Amino acid sequence: MKKTNVVFILFIILFSCKNERNTKPKELDIISYDIKIQFDTLNKKLNIESIINFEKPDSLDKIDFLFLDFASIKEIKQNNTIDKDFIHQNDTLSIKVSNKNKIDLFIKYTLPIDSFGNNEIITLTRPMKWCPFVYDDISIFKTTTTVPANFKVYSSGDTKIQEESNAEIIFKSYNKLNSGLPLIIANRNYYRETEKELTNMKVKFYFHNKDSVLTNSIINECVNTLNFCNEYIGSYNKKKLTFIEIPNAFYCQSLETFLMAGDYFIKYYQHPQFKFWVSHETIHQWIGAGFFTPIKKENKLTWFITESLTEYIRYQYIEKQYGKDSLDNQIKWSINTYNTEVKGTEQDIPIIENKPNRTTYVVGPLIFHLIRTKVGDDKWNEFIKKLYNDNYGKIVTYSVFKKTLNEFASDEIIKKMEKWVETKGIPDEMVSP
Ligand SMILES: [Zn+2]
Repeated sequence: MKKTNVVFILFIILFSCKNERNTKPKELDIISYDIKIQFDTLNKKLNIESIINFEKPDSLDKIDFLFLDFASIKEIKQNNTIDKDFIHQNDTLSIKVSNKNKIDLFIKYTLPIDSFGNNEIITLTRPMKWCPFVYDDISIFKTTTTVPANFKVYSSGDTKIQEESNAEIIFKSYNKLNSGLPLIIANRNYYRETEKELTNMKVKFYFHNKDSVLTNSIINECVNTLNFCNEYIGSYNKKKLTFIEIPNAFYCQSLETFLMAGDYFIKYYQHPQFKFWVSHETIHQWIGAGFFTPIKKENKLTWFITESLTEYIRYQYIEKQYGKDSLDNQIKWSINTYNTEVKGTEQDIPIIENKPNRTTYVVGPLIFHLIRTKVGDDKWNEFIKKLYNDNYGKIVTYSVFKKTLNEFASDEIIKKMEKWVETKGIPDEMVSP
């Protein structure tokens, strides 16, 4: 991460298009994922029932889902037959699967809420592994969440009230491109809501922080960045974005239609070292949460394609908002930061090693700046537009990225880029502005 030592991770989001097919699948393919959640305030737990519908090849006889250890499994059924042969340890649920190609897997379990929050708010995010999942295959996702009447539910995609009584409320969420199953259950009074209407989308901001001067400056920065991306990269593909504060969190996560900002990042936003994150995370709605990169399959240069590129587009946002001098200052800052804080440390590794470390955030954008300088602004801008518009909702591997870039950049430039990512340090051709 740039300018701070806090570990700052984007959890990249994956999805795959689902179509009815007649042929046998070549690999595990989750078709739909339905979850029913009931918030039991008396016993301080969530009662959860999941139905995962998937297709698989004959050869696959075991599936390992990531699933946290202290989820207490009550029952598992495969196509309505009780399964007692599973193993649940080391945050993994291993299930031997029958030789059928299509399987409905039913998993009933409980989660103690004390581990995820307090009496006012429960926060469930992908890294918590609160529901069983498999990397690189997240599907259409439907949840039904029943909470006491003084609570509200927030999730990605569309979340609506389905039924309401004096005692409880049922919320329904639906997301076609699910991106890591975020779910927040909060007391009705926990968040302050602000809505902003842009030409093509609505943004709902939910802050717990009471400092409205601070939160308004975050809102303005997010809206300015959205306007920039809508014009520069391409129109946002969804009608609604939710921007929500997460308590006790030292991270931000930009998931599809759902931007989670840790309270620590909000509190220190005005600090010069923390200024960058609002525009950076907002740009991720296009790069990383608009198109995705793979987590396990062909994961070459994924941090470069998502993080370094997002950071460079943030430099371009600064240039558009504040002029060319601001871009030059940013470039100078990156060169200086590498030379004084990264060079010779354990962070000083080639980008090809694919780590979310400071090299990715400090040197990676400089490589993109050099490519832009070489191809010229017109071609560079067209490349960014095409990369997003052709790949919205898809997984962009390095080969897809390279092929798209090659439409605008010569073989010689691509070769240079590949040399720069394989070599430690700032590219030899980089000249300080
Ligand atoms: Zn990022």
